[in-house]
Amino acid sequence: MSVYIFIDHSEGHVKKASLEALSYGATLASQLNTTAEGILLGTLSTDPALLGKYGITKVHQAAQESLNALDSQVYAKIIADFVSAAGDSILVFSNNLSGKAVAPRVAVRLKAALVTGAIALPDTSKGFVVKKTVFSGKAFANISLNTPTKVIALNPNAYSVKEGEGKAEIVPLTATAPAPKVRVVSATAATGHVPLTEAEIVVSGGRGLKGPENWGIIEELANLLGAATACSRPVADAHWRPHNEHVGQTGIAIAPNLYIAIGISGAIQHLAGVNRSKVIVVINKDPEAPFFKAADYGIVGDAFEVVPKMITAVKKL
Ligand code: FAD
Repeated sequence: MSVYIFIDHSEGHVKKASLEALSYGATLASQLNTTAEGILLGTLSTDPALLGKYGITKVHQAAQESLNALDSQVYAKIIADFVSAAGDSILVFSNNLSGKAVAPRVAVRLKAALVTGAIALPDTSKGFVVKKTVFSGKAFANISLNTPTKVIALNPNAYSVKEGEGKAEIVPLTATAPAPKVRVVSATAATGHVPLTEAEIVVSGGRGLKGPENWGIIEELANLLGAATACSRPVADAHWRPHNEHVGQTGIAIAPNLYIAIGISGAIQHLAGVNRSKVIVVINKDPEAPFFKAADYGIVGDAFEVVPKMITAVKKL
């Protein structure tokens, strides 16, 4: 039984969340005394063999450029066909947008048990039990996967990237891609320099910013830190910021290393999308704001005084 890891990429680069999945899969494989191998649909701008440094021995690559744009139904069919031929396997995806679209479809095709939102390596002492978050990160559940083939979608930022040495063997994957049921007519890059789901640092603003005309301080701080910008839902609903910046239960879920929340109260629906951030900094003028309970660092103060001071301080670094 091998461990296969789905290599998620965009514009020629493997996503950070996928490097975490590779490292997780490689560690799992060594625990089970088997091999970890990648599945790559499409092409990268670098040599895929270099992914061997994350612990995989092979990359099974369907190198058609037409596969560079993710189509969940096409991807699911190719991956499921490949795994069916390979026999009982463990498949690892990242629980990001791509993984959420592809992993369940693969699991259905393979009639395999699926756990999404995994946060730890499986406990194999009593079967195959994977810990995951539930109720928007408020609790944990241990899920037993009881089918011969198992599918795991690992939460971004739940497992550190482990880099070593080594080159993977590239094995051509002959894929018979079904005709796509949807066609991407055009794609427009989202605003902001750093994609929100990939960002290490996110600077986020809420209704405390009073209006769209005040977002200059959020953008300036974000630019200085190489960060992406985000916002709370009412801010997007009021069209102060585009909806692709809205984070939370009904928006995008993110897990950056640093989340700076400015003028955001910290409602449970907002926290649901950001509580996997490694470090949370909250700036709010109300010392009773609920967000402070979830914060690693808190500044009680007026955003219009605190943020310009932060900008000046960062410029001096
Ligand atoms: P507010 O609650 O108005 O808070 C503004 C904060 O700014 C306050 O804490 C205030 O003290 C502070 N402030 C004011 N002025 C300043 C200043 N000058 N300097 C510093 N601080 C200041 N919300 C989301 O964000 N994401 C979601 O995905 C989401 N999904 C939802 C789903 C459902 C089903 C429901 C019912 C709600 C959802 N919400 C979501 C809305 C959520 O409940 C909150 O209403 C929302 O998060 C509040 O946004 P806010 O913190 O920007 O605004």
